[in-house]
Amino acid sequence: MKLIDVLEKQMRKRAFRPIKNYIEEGQATIKALPESPEFGFFTWFRIFRENNIKVKPKISFKAMPYAIRAILGIRKSFKNLKNNPKNPRTTITPEGIYEFEEYAKSIGVDKIGYIKLTPELILEHQELIYDNVIVFIKEMDKNLMALAPHKKTMVMIMKTYYQMGKQANKLSKYLRKKGFSVHAGPALAGLSLYPVLAQRANLGAIGRHGLLITLEFGPRQRIAVIYTNITNLPIAQSNTYGWISEFCKTCVSCMEACPTNAIYETPIQKAHGRLTHIDVGECAKGFLNYGCSICIKECTFNKNPPEKMRRIAERQWKSYKTNLNY
Ligand code: SF4
Ligand code: SF4
Repeated sequence: MKLIDVLEKQMRKRAFRPIKNYIEEGQATIKALPESPEFGFFTWFRIFRENNIKVKPKISFKAMPYAIRAILGIRKSFKNLKNNPKNPRTTITPEGIYEFEEYAKSIGVDKIGYIKLTPELILEHQELIYDNVIVFIKEMDKNLMALAPHKKTMVMIMKTYYQMGKQANKLSKYLRKKGFSVHAGPALAGLSLYPVLAQRANLGAIGRHGLLITLEFGPRQRIAVIYTNITNLPIAQSNTYGWISEFCKTCVSCMEACPTNAIYETPIQKAHGRLTHIDVGECAKGFLNYGCSICIKECTFNKNPPEKMRRIAERQWKSYKTNLNY
């Protein structure tokens, strides 16, 4: 058996067992649709296997402990489902939201949004138990990102994944203590399309490179979520960052910088209007160089201060307003 097969088998066995293994028999789930996107984490295994990619990966062994802890965080998020209350509360007060957000900030969360999950955003073959979603982001270190691709950048990214898994599990514990049912969705290997959820939750907009761009950090953040039974979250009603996507139509910096030409000039439209921005197979080749991340480093929104970008946007698209879905 090849190393890649062993790795995938262990991942599926230890961290990504179907949710059915952790919930009560007969508990309702929301299933992915047949046309839902492929589960990103395993797409890479498939691509490497199908294309027999033999590039020797450049990795940092210092990133490994964080990667392992991030994977253990995913496992914990499933195992803790058994701690959901038997008779959970389903509504939260504005004060409850305020206190939750204050707690989130105190453990290092940078920005929070709320949105409803729709089944086409659940990754293929996956099931989830709640469709109310708390989306949150955490900034990645600017100086270390500026080195990309570099072993230090790779360590920083893995550390961020680990920290966000910890945050997702801590926030879930907090909400369970308040009487709610939750399912933590760590940043690494999410079960739904996080950038789209974040865009719909009005945290930012998806750029040409397919990553979420926020005014605060550009593309330099990771996303995690919490699925919950709370039915009255302050769901975002519209997206006010349409100008970011418009700006991307005038800029090709990420495309030109990508070492494997993985970023499409025009995104490919899939079922339900979903857009695919990159060729995952080509990106996978670049990623083997310490996780690449050149598209994050070179993005105009990373290279310029947020206020400058806002001024440019206001000048060019003063009256521009749109509701973004994808
Ligand atoms: S991570 Fe690297 S290879 Fe992948 S899209 Fe970005 S620049 Fe291209
Ligand atoms: S580099 Fe330019 S085109 Fe690419 S995502 Fe950033 S702003 Fe958009």
